[in-house]
Amino acid sequence: MNKRYDVLIVGAGVTGLTVAALLAQCEYSSQLRLTVVDAAPRPVHDPDGEVALRVSAIATGSAELLDSVGAWQYVGETRASAYEAMRVWDESIEPDSGGALSFDAAEFGVPQLGFIVENVLVQQALLAVLDKLDVTLKFNTRVDSLKADLVIGADGARSFVRDKVGIKTQDFPYGQTAFVTHLKPEKPHGRTALQRFTQDGPLGMLPLNDGRVSVVWSIHDVLAERVQAANDEELGEILSAASDYALGNLEVAGPRGGFPLCARHATQYVMPGVALIGDAAHAVHPLAGQGANLGLQDAAELADVINTALGDAEHPGDKPVLRRYERARKGENATMLHFMTGLNKLFATDSALVRELRINGMRLFNYSGPIRDHAVKVALGI
Ligand SMILES: Cc1cc2nc3c(=O)[nH]c(=O)nc-3n(C[C@H](O)[C@H](O)[C@H](O)COP(=O)(O)OP(=O)(O)OC[C@H]3O[C@@H](n4cnc5c(N)ncnc54)[C@H](O)[C@@H]3O)c2cc1C
Repeated sequence: MNKRYDVLIVGAGVTGLTVAALLAQCEYSSQLRLTVVDAAPRPVHDPDGEVALRVSAIATGSAELLDSVGAWQYVGETRASAYEAMRVWDESIEPDSGGALSFDAAEFGVPQLGFIVENVLVQQALLAVLDKLDVTLKFNTRVDSLKADLVIGADGARSFVRDKVGIKTQDFPYGQTAFVTHLKPEKPHGRTALQRFTQDGPLGMLPLNDGRVSVVWSIHDVLAERVQAANDEELGEILSAASDYALGNLEVAGPRGGFPLCARHATQYVMPGVALIGDAAHAVHPLAGQGANLGLQDAAELADVINTALGDAEHPGDKPVLRRYERARKGENATMLHFMTGLNKLFATDSALVRELRINGMRLFNYSGPIRDHAVKVALGI
């Protein structure tokens, strides 16, 4: 009988639950004793209730990963809003001009570019899978000591695990807050995700099945406070103007929330017996909707590395084993983090020269053929 290794997964967000579902179903899962612990209560999604404020654009590749552990069917049947096109443009031009970036699912031979999904729905679907597997789930339990053969820190951007083991981070504060709400647009959204780069920050509008759009506007903290304090009518006017009326007048049709933004990268992802995944390892700007997708790729890579190690009779917490995971993911995550930070800065400057350069850059990118195709396929995970 092989030894069984205790694996403690701290954090039952999307990444923690995904790595648990992958490990519980991997070839050598009988060698693992899995426990997932979260400080918060068990998340519950009400399919008949209001669409939650925290939604993510889940790329097609991420949906396939969730499908591979048996969690996607429930999400798809319950409330996933497919989006089939994307338009990205600078505030100084029109969304349908040559300088705007434009992608359609059909040109990449896929039925959709991705799905807008409530985070809590993905958690619920993963928990339903885990309930049937050999995994111990503990909620309302804050972890304050780390005892296991392997601790997986999936405990978000302010990771306790990361701090406890003394892993440092590089922080790039944006001084921005992501303001979120749902809006009813005057014109149909046509299952198109829109992003307008305004002087105040990038404004994303993600299409929901019920005709509304979920808005994420990453703005300076002072403006965020003003926007939060505006009444519904004022807020509708502010957001209609910020979107340049791309969907006509926008009516506020949901609660509001604000998330302070900071890019943060752990200087190392692993130590003997410890691995960080998801936001605990890297928090990126939400402007391209990549954070959860990167976390899901971390989960897939780490589960694969652990499974292979078990097959080779290696200890899953050994540093050389965990370094394989770090080598596979850290560079890619760093590229995305710095690219998002740079993009955010590039679009925040009002210099006429920089504006001209970025519009020409977008136009060039649009006509760059294979480069454009490759970049989009990476973002979609296809
Ligand atoms: C406004 C906004 C919009 C976004 N849009 C997108 C998008 O469109 N697409 C996309 O891919 N990403 C998006 N993201 C990013 C995405 O939401 C995050 O990357 C993702 O949710 C991170 O998941 P996680 O599981 O790593 O961490 P979290 O979701 O932060 O989960 C961490 C968990 O750990 C628990 N925890 C913390 N400390 C402890 C402790 N000591 N003990 C026990 N439990 C603990 C917490 O309770 C929590 O449940 C967006 C982010 C924001 C702010």
